[in-house]
This record gives sequence, C-alpha cells and structure tokens, in this order.
Amino acid sequence: MKYEAVIGLEIHAQLLTETKIFCGCSTRFGSEPNTQTCPVCIGMPGVLPVLNRRVVEFAIKTGLAMNCKISSYSRFARKNYFYPDLPKGYQISQYELPICENGYVDITVDGVKRRVGITRIHMEEDAGKNIHQKDGSLVDLNRAGVPLMEIVTEPDIRSPKEAAAFMRKLRTILRYLGVCDGNMEQGSLRCDANVSIRPEGTEEFGTKTEIKNINSFKFVERALEYEIKRQIKILNEGGKIIQETRLWNVDTGTTQSMRSKEEAHDYRYFPEPDLVPLEVSKEWIEEIRQSMPELPDEKRNRFIEEFGLPEYDADILTEERTIAEWFEECVRLGAKPKEVSNWMLTELLRRLNESGKEIHEIALTPQHLVDLLKLIDNGTISRNIGKNVFSEMFASGQSPEKIVQEKGLVQITDTSEIEKMVEDVIQANPKEVERYKNGETKLLGFFVGQVMKASKGKANPKVVNELIRKKLS
Ligand SMILES: [Zn+2]
Repeated sequence: MKYEAVIGLEIHAQLLTETKIFCGCSTRFGSEPNTQTCPVCIGMPGVLPVLNRRVVEFAIKTGLAMNCKISSYSRFARKNYFYPDLPKGYQISQYELPICENGYVDITVDGVKRRVGITRIHMEEDAGKNIHQKDGSLVDLNRAGVPLMEIVTEPDIRSPKEAAAFMRKLRTILRYLGVCDGNMEQGSLRCDANVSIRPEGTEEFGTKTEIKNINSFKFVERALEYEIKRQIKILNEGGKIIQETRLWNVDTGTTQSMRSKEEAHDYRYFPEPDLVPLEVSKEWIEEIRQSMPELPDEKRNRFIEEFGLPEYDADILTEERTIAEWFEECVRLGAKPKEVSNWMLTELLRRLNESGKEIHEIALTPQHLVDLLKLIDNGTISRNIGKNVFSEMFASGQSPEKIVQEKGLVQITDTSEIEKMVEDVIQANPKEVERYKNGETKLLGFFVGQVMKASKGKANPKVVNELIRKKLS
C-alpha cells in the first residue's frame, strides 16, 4: 500500500523584545542564572502580570505577514501543569481566543507552489530551564516569562521536504519583521511536528504522533523521514500507531516514545483572571500594517520584474533581508543587477558561509564590489584577478583600487609585451605547435593557459587569444 504523510507544525518563536512579557526583567541571553528575575516571573504569590505592548505589536505584525485575521478581542488563559521550571504551576498563554487566526504562507518545493494554512498565532510566556547534573538538578528562571509566539499550521504539509521548506520560509519572514532572530540551535525558534500517515488518495486522518525537540532545519526533515518510515512499518506489519509524544534523538537519528500525548483538557485551561481581555483597535492594526517592511515574496517578485533576475537568483538573494538590501545598494550605486547577483551568489555567500559571519559584520561594502566590477569592466584587471581581489577585500576591507595598485595586478593589455610572451611559449612547445598546425585546434586553450601562467594571470585573455591564433595560422 502507498501511504501519504500528513504533517502539521507547531512553532515557538522567541520574541526580540528587551523585556519579558509580563514584567520588566531583561530577556538577554546567556546571563548568570537567576539574575534576570523578579517576583512576577518567579511566581511569587500576590503579584500581578502587566502585558508588554511590544509583544502584542510583534504578534500582530507576524499575523499580518502571514495573512491572518487579527482579532480585535482576544484573551489570555492559564495552562495548568506542574514542572520545576514553572514556579507558578501554570503558564499564561492564549487558548480559545488567540490574537491571530486563519492565515497562510506560500512555499515553493521543487518548483511547485504550495499553500500552508496557519490555524492560529498566539502569545505566551516561556518557562525557565532545568539543568540536570550528576548530583541533582538546578533551575534557572532567567527564561521564565520571556515572550513567545506559538504558530500552529493546518495539517497541510505532505512531505518532510515541505516541512523544512516551510520552516525556512517562516524563519525568513520572522527575520524580515525583526520579531525573532530565528536561531534554532540556540532555541529561539523551536519546532514540534505532528505527523500521521494515510493510504494515498484517502481523506481520513490516521493516528498522529508528535515529535518534540527538533532543533535544526536539517533535523526537521530527518526526524519526519524517520517517523514516517516507522509508522509505515507498523501499519504494514498489521500494528496500530499509538497517539503519543516522541522525542527526536540526534545521536541515534531516531524518535523515542516520551509520554502518551496529553489532550487540551488535561491542562484545565481557564481565562486568566489577572489580565483584562486584550482589545486591539483598528487604528493600531492599521498603524502596524503601515510600518511593515517589504516582505520576502514581494521583494523576490520585484527583483525578478525590476532587475530581470532569474527566479533562482531572486530566491536566494531575498532569503535574508540584509543580503537583499546589500544587493539593492550595489544596484543603486550603479552596478548591473545580474553581475552583482553573480558575484554575491558565488564569491560572497561562499565566504560568508566559511567565515560564519553575517553580512553586516564584514568589512566589505557594496561600494567595494561596485568599484571592483568597474575595474573588470574597463579592463584594468581580468575577471580571474578580480576574484583574488575580492578575496582580499573580504579579508581586509580595503578598496579594490588600493589592492590592485599595491599588488601590481593591473592587466597587461600592451600588445608588444604580450606578443613577447606568446613567442616564448611557442618556442618552448614545438611539439604542440606541430600538432596544432596539423589540425588539433583545441590546443589553443593550452597555449592561452601557458601565456596566462607566464603573465601571472595579468595578460588580457582576449589579446592573448588573438595573438596566438595569428602567430600559429
Ligand atoms: Zn521578572
């Protein structure tokens, strides 16, 4: 039997606010344990939460970017459970009335466009962190009360690849909006996946399992692939899938049963009595809408229309807002869009990857690249030398003119000088000359290569080509 996977994702995104969701404590990452706490976020009796306005703004922004309906009236709820990192014994979340509902995000996988429905986006507080050691466990409450957004998709995803594509798109949108840094390894973007399988062509959902603890884009795909195979094997052997929560284990590359899945009613949700219902005015929503940056899809389409870029280039350049803006700055400074794109997609992105740096952290500026392209365009240096200059610029942040001057890289276009080199090469390779004259014209490349080597890459290849042809004809 052929099976089809049905996947829905629940994503927790940590919001980039200065302070926590219900108190004024800092949200800074990596501080000494329990130094960013107060009576509110450590759950002392009698304290009252005060909602951080910025959190609501970020949630609305995200909702608008994901085509959601923004509720003018929403409410916080208590989600009750006990865990040592949750001193209040409940988490303040949203339940039956979330701030955003009914949206969608479009993704493209293997050239096919797919629409993934967004069921809801709600705001909630994070819990603290338990640190388990040999001689006992410690609790750090710095993270308690850090604002989160939970984004829940419809079960519209059909393959692990689509799930990974969705996660990448979501991250791109969140980073464009500046509401979350999208760092899965550090836990500021976390993903749980609900997955079930059903015979291809049928409508009814199978029993689902939930996979937790997926902390990289690569693992979203791997964990789902494993889990789908596991479920198929069980059904093929006549077994039954148990509804449960499973943990992704990076070391073994498998999912393991963690606990039977809890239902919503296990949490005894009820409206949070310490917070008034949240009312959001139309004017405020409009104000936020006006302040939205150009979103990835819009930018991508504009890059194709306005700059004539191929889809492939536009996709990659718009994945990060900072990269897209860097590209646009080069074009604004007068460079040809496709030229800039070629250099960015190869030389620049490769070096960013290798160095682990973000584009705003490097010394190389758009002006540098534009100046380099001018030097190649007007024949001062060859394209190949240009690559070396680029490498140098990336490392030192010096201007291309200065590098070319100091290293004596100016291209040799003086015909008599090149002619001398061509003659030397012809003299040194009589056998190849013989073969060339006997019709092996593909040896032209060999001669060009020799001359380029002799000139240390500085001879103008066009002139070299012409001269060799002339001399050997
Ligand atoms: Zn606090």
